[in-house]
Amino acid sequence: MTDSPRFRSDMTVELVKHSAADTDVLWAARVSTAGEQSLEELEKDPQRSKGLINYLMRDRHGSPFEHNSMTFFVSAPLFVFREFHRHRVGWSYNEESGRYRELEPVFYVPDASRKLVQKGRPGKYEFVEGSEKQLELVREQMTESYRQSYAAYQEMLDAGVAREVARATLPVGLYSSMYATCNARSLMHFLGLRTKHELARVPSFPQREIEMVAELMEAEWARLMPLTHEAFNANGRVAP
Ligand SMILES: Cc1cc2nc3c(=O)[nH]c(=O)nc-3n(C[C@H](O)[C@H](O)[C@H](O)COP(=O)(O)OP(=O)(O)OC[C@H]3O[C@@H](n4cnc5c(N)ncnc54)[C@H](O)[C@@H]3O)c2cc1C
Repeated sequence: MTDSPRFRSDMTVELVKHSAADTDVLWAARVSTAGEQSLEELEKDPQRSKGLINYLMRDRHGSPFEHNSMTFFVSAPLFVFREFHRHRVGWSYNEESGRYRELEPVFYVPDASRKLVQKGRPGKYEFVEGSEKQLELVREQMTESYRQSYAAYQEMLDAGVAREVARATLPVGLYSSMYATCNARSLMHFLGLRTKHELARVPSFPQREIEMVAELMEAEWARLMPLTHEAFNANGRVAP
């Protein structure tokens, strides 16, 4: 029997595990000048703490931002993961397997907020709204193509073909899931490249769908490490 495909436009990010706070940065940085310090000592002077974090960010003293950890459970289409996994340094990944389990028929279809038309040339372009007609076409063609490829996948599985062979017919709009673990420094490098932000000193032009994931991660991180997040923004969103 063929499972009916399900269509989504959203990305989800869940912070499943963390050990990350602004005091981790202070603790690591102050060993340089004060040796080992207690948490109470670190929390005594908030203004000084803010100043130190800002100084480290501004002068790109990066290693104190590595003594923390955040693990996210991310659900997004394969084409997003393909871009995500290019981030090699300070990231650990584990993704669901298309060899060991039957892949669920969940596929990406953009919603009306996704700008559909690219204007300009490589290196100098922008995205603008599509027409109703274009949105309709995108939805029709994507859903039809997804239905066909998933039916082909299931037909091969039903005939006894191995999952790792049959999956070759599935498109990059298929949703996958992974755990991604990083620290604040590697996350900042990722955010600098995968978000478009008015405070960025070095502008980047990421694909909207990976930016949606990045924005959700950033919101979690900002809650855990507000001073570090503030200093990141104040210093042009360049990872130290
Ligand atoms: C808008 C945008 C468009 C892109 N377009 C393309 C594209 O068309 N084709 C394509 O293939 N990729 C593309 N990429 C991916 C890009 O080239 C990077 O692979 C990706 O952004 C990861 O960045 P990174 O290497 O800095 O990160 P990480 O791999 O996490 O590395 C972090 C930092 O560590 C250092 N580092 C890591 N590895 C090495 C190394 N081997 N040698 C020296 N230093 C190292 C560098 O300083 C690097 O910045 C694009 C990325 C963006 C943001």
